[in-house]
Amino acid sequence: MTRIDDLPVRDELRGKSPYGAPQLDVPVRLNTNENPYPLPEPLVERIAERVREAARDLNRYPDRDAVELRTALARYLSDTAGHEVALADVWAANGSNEVIQQLLQTFGGPGRTAIGFEPSYSMHGLIARGTGTGWISGPRNDDFTIDVEAAKRALAEHRPDVVFITTPNNPTGTAVPAETVRALYDAAQAAKPSLVVVDEAYVEFSHGASLLPLIEGRQNLVVSRTMSKAFGAAGLRLGYLAADPAVVDAVQLVRLPYHLSAVTQATALAALEHTDTLLKYVEQLKAERDRLVAELRAAGYEVTESDANFVQFGRFVGEGAAHEVWRKILDRGVLVRDNGVPGWLRVTAGTPDENDAFLDAVRELKKERH
Ligand code: PMP
Repeated sequence: MTRIDDLPVRDELRGKSPYGAPQLDVPVRLNTNENPYPLPEPLVERIAERVREAARDLNRYPDRDAVELRTALARYLSDTAGHEVALADVWAANGSNEVIQQLLQTFGGPGRTAIGFEPSYSMHGLIARGTGTGWISGPRNDDFTIDVEAAKRALAEHRPDVVFITTPNNPTGTAVPAETVRALYDAAQAAKPSLVVVDEAYVEFSHGASLLPLIEGRQNLVVSRTMSKAFGAAGLRLGYLAADPAVVDAVQLVRLPYHLSAVTQATALAALEHTDTLLKYVEQLKAERDRLVAELRAAGYEVTESDANFVQFGRFVGEGAAHEVWRKILDRGVLVRDNGVPGWLRVTAGTPDENDAFLDAVRELKKERH
């Protein structure tokens, strides 16, 4: 059997593994930070209508600049994020992963580096590798907040071309205050003009506000967003960014022509028409997230403060201890995530019933261990 390493693949890909959150068929799946609520029926109908219209023109390429969709996204951001943005400030792609890939293709690449403060979203490093960008792992405090002074030192030392700040952070749930982002932006620019990407994939679940207003007067600051979480549309694959219009112009240099299919654009437009209904689920999920935090603590677990739709819990001491607990929770029909952070696991807030199933499992485990 031919193995990957038998092929003439690029040296930096040899011996590496792909992104692989397990997609297992178990009763309760709380491992990939999805929204547990299916789209409401009137929205499903509206999607069908919009897609039917789009289908009539599928012999033609879609709108390459996705103008109607970007206008609707700009309106959503202006209405919710405390800052007026226009069509020219917004760009969209197939998931925020593709947004990040386009940014790294434009501002990273061979001979350049990107930094993230880890543990954080593993795809930042993986997409960096895929685009030939060197990856630097920046530090965090023991409580998973960003140590501003240590981060500034890392920026001065490595002078990266791209800086990732994920807020709320995945997998820890930690929010990053605006003053930290301002300080890191200034420190990064002082070291070398560089692109600072604020990944706000989970911001709708946050106790605090979006950092979108920070793009004002900061030409190298990008905020990336997604419809995969708050909008409950992970299957749609729609991510977007807001930044100075020059950044939007720059990513045109690397985006594939017609990258966003007409079906994707039609579906996303339908979902945006139902923003108010979809965001009501966000309120429920925030309440469930807070309940998970409280009940995990009551059951004797340590929990990291969370501003996202998931909760990091532990602490499991000893080599492989977290993975063993992951397996025991799975044996009880509940799939959570082992992100490889030593001593910790992550659970996504599901429906109240799903969360009850998870809480029953972890309470049972606690009894077993005493
Ligand atoms: N950023 C962060 C921090 C994430 O956790 C995720 C998904 N897990 C993404 C970006 C990518 O999301 P998508 O490609 O579905 O928009």
